[in-house]
Amino acid sequence: MQEKTNNTIDYKNNDILLWIDDHREEVISFLQELIRIPSVTPWFKPKKEESREAEVQEVIKKRMEDMGAEVKSWEPNAEELSRYEGRPGYYADHKFEGRPNQVAILKGEGGGKSLMLTGHVDVVPAAGGWKEDPFGGIRRDGVIYGRGAVDMKGGIAAMVMALEAIVQSGYKLKGDVLVGTVVDEEAGGMGTLDLIDKGYRADACILTEPTDMKIAPLCRGILWGKLIIPGRSGHIELPQGDWREGGAVDAIALSRVFMNHFDRLNADWRVRKTHPYLPIPCQIYVAQINAGEYPTAFANKTEIVFNAQYLPREKDEKGLGSKVKAEIEAFVESVAQTEEWLRENPPKIEWLIDADCGETPVSHPFVQMTLNNLSKHGLLKIIEGVCAHVDMGWFETVGIPSVTIGAGNPRIAHQNDESIKEEELIKLTKYIATMITQWVKILE
Ligand SMILES: [Zn+2]
Repeated sequence: MQEKTNNTIDYKNNDILLWIDDHREEVISFLQELIRIPSVTPWFKPKKEESREAEVQEVIKKRMEDMGAEVKSWEPNAEELSRYEGRPGYYADHKFEGRPNQVAILKGEGGGKSLMLTGHVDVVPAAGGWKEDPFGGIRRDGVIYGRGAVDMKGGIAAMVMALEAIVQSGYKLKGDVLVGTVVDEEAGGMGTLDLIDKGYRADACILTEPTDMKIAPLCRGILWGKLIIPGRSGHIELPQGDWREGGAVDAIALSRVFMNHFDRLNADWRVRKTHPYLPIPCQIYVAQINAGEYPTAFANKTEIVFNAQYLPREKDEKGLGSKVKAEIEAFVESVAQTEEWLRENPPKIEWLIDADCGETPVSHPFVQMTLNNLSKHGLLKIIEGVCAHVDMGWFETVGIPSVTIGAGNPRIAHQNDESIKEEELIKLTKYIATMITQWVKILE
């Protein structure tokens, strides 16, 4: 009996996969259409004509309504969300006029589980140095170019077209499918916070950020901090004497002390802060160093901007990285104790960003299903968490098992001449269609 049921599912599923093969031109042209509407997050201060998130939502809305979905669009409101102060994704100063979030619900007939397919419609700026038109949706030799090709209009095109394949093949869903397309992800994730606040829930969630078709049941949290090391200016060519008698203190030399100690801390983190499903350990990386005023003086201060990552198991009760912040602060304080000047003139840390993380256990039946479907699509069964932040945290917080899987190498995201292979886009579309037929289930 079990055998027969599975065969029936596979038969329907094959129909749907064939539809996708027959309509690959439509999948591709839908992605081109999305790329051709620039939707740069306003936080990056793009030209007005390059900041059209609403138009992208409109195109998705039309496509989903044609399938029979009920679509709701609304503008998030930072004031209404103010009770999330201190929680992930909340930024009091973010504005959303003309920047709607959207959820399209394709209602099921009953008897299946629900699924949320989600992604962000905003992109980072194109910047200079592109060979291709970043918003041209150019297609050449089996590759589609443009800002957002992998991050993540490709993923959005795949989820919408997977549903269209099911509907156009004449099947009905048993459970509900929600397509949640949010704004503002590239500026911190307030769109997803708002989606969760509005009460949209499902029995499982797929985010289609690029993972090279690996299963990512987790992502890391990210901290940006600025370590400010005080020094004291003085003529760099002259004898200085003891700082207690007014001598200069070289803030650049002191920064070397911290950098050496960071190496020591990183050696410890390399052992302690690993995860079986992450290819690299958490580290503190120095991203920027700013110091010195002019060539004849010792630097008055050094500012070291660093990026430290944290694991889902290190999250605090609010879902953020306060425990790891405290660990870094205590470390900096202990280093300061090794220098007399710093004992009396302590360094400071200013925290700039805390982007949250999330994890669903691999043993969860939903994660197992996402894995098993890889082999069905000729893909290697690889689990690899996203080393950067994606919007998984809030889904985990409200109890929705979540997996990120998407086409294209994540390293291509934010690069010049961002691109996606047509083959990979089609593969992702088919994969999502299969996930829907198995998790949500379908009727003839
Ligand atoms: Zn993204």
